[in-house]
Amino acid sequence: MIYLDYQATTPLAPEAREAMLPWLAGPEGMGFANPHSPHKPGRAAAAAVEVAREQLAALLPPDGRVVFTSGATEALNLAILGRKPKQIVVSNIEHSAVINAARATGAPIQVLEVGADGLLDPDTAFAPGSDIVCVMQANNEIGVIQPTEELARKAHAKGALFVCDAVQGYGKIAAPAEADMIAITGHKMYGPKGIGALWLRDGVHLDPIVFGGGQEGGLRSGTLSPALCAGFGAAAALAKDSMEEDAAHCAALFSLVLSLMPHWQLNGSADHRWKGNVNLRRDGLDVGRLMSECRDIAFSAGSACASGKGEPSRVLSAIGLPPEALKSSIRLGFGRYTTRREIEDACAILNAAAAAQGV
Ligand code: PLP
Repeated sequence: MIYLDYQATTPLAPEAREAMLPWLAGPEGMGFANPHSPHKPGRAAAAAVEVAREQLAALLPPDGRVVFTSGATEALNLAILGRKPKQIVVSNIEHSAVINAARATGAPIQVLEVGADGLLDPDTAFAPGSDIVCVMQANNEIGVIQPTEELARKAHAKGALFVCDAVQGYGKIAAPAEADMIAITGHKMYGPKGIGALWLRDGVHLDPIVFGGGQEGGLRSGTLSPALCAGFGAAAALAKDSMEEDAAHCAALFSLVLSLMPHWQLNGSADHRWKGNVNLRRDGLDVGRLMSECRDIAFSAGSACASGKGEPSRVLSAIGLPPEALKSSIRLGFGRYTTRREIEDACAILNAAAAAQGV
């Protein structure tokens, strides 16, 4: 099996797994203790959580704090609903966690449209009275990287806060330094699933959306999992050391895919993108058939969530692809553990299967 679905989720780094194990141990080691308990094993677990928090913070702007959540979906809900906004601005290629959280506020939503390259024009006007602008860093379907710094500065000039969904960029490219809130998740950067965080700039006030024992400074009640925190933190520490190497590796694989797939067109900007993502289309291709014929390759026909529901991709329509082209696109996602050999084999299999369809 060749795994090429790194935007859906990444493999767990062995280093992250190692960091988790002590906190999953049985009664002997007391690693299972509740990190909110004041006794010795509880304090040891709490210390592991704080180490992880610092490891995550080391990849984020200096003047803020990290609030653990169950993932980026919860972090984005907290960022948006916790502000009780009056007028929201989002892009038309945001993840459904942003779109649906924005809708749940009941506030009017201005939807900014990306161009054919998938990029926003930072000069687009925001609706009067906008108090939250929410634009992602790297897109999960087509990999394009938005001009978040310009958009954040513009949001500030209009008196709005800038929320950034940095799920696909965190640990891979520099964090959006001008953002006021940044949502991240473990499982897209070689950490475990079920843990994410919201980074919050100092001075930004939020109301909680989950109520209970008042953990995470009252912003996110619920018992933290030291194992998940430790795995997430270790993945961040590893990313800090290997960011350049990982990016160079992905760039080399990106060029390799393009050279091996000459009959396919790239969706989204070729330059402003995370190169661990290639979204390709081939006119006339039946992707459903391609997927059933290439069962030894794990890849996606759109975003994992969208394709799970069988709905056409919102992102591909946003870049202006006609309805028939939406069904002729594939997403190949790769990263740290992908080899050149895997790319060569996968491209050969995909090319042969596409050619057999006569397209
Ligand atoms: N934002 C983006 C861009 C994503 O790719 C995802 C995951 O699919 C999410 C948000 C949601 O993250 P999580 O799975 O941690 O809830």
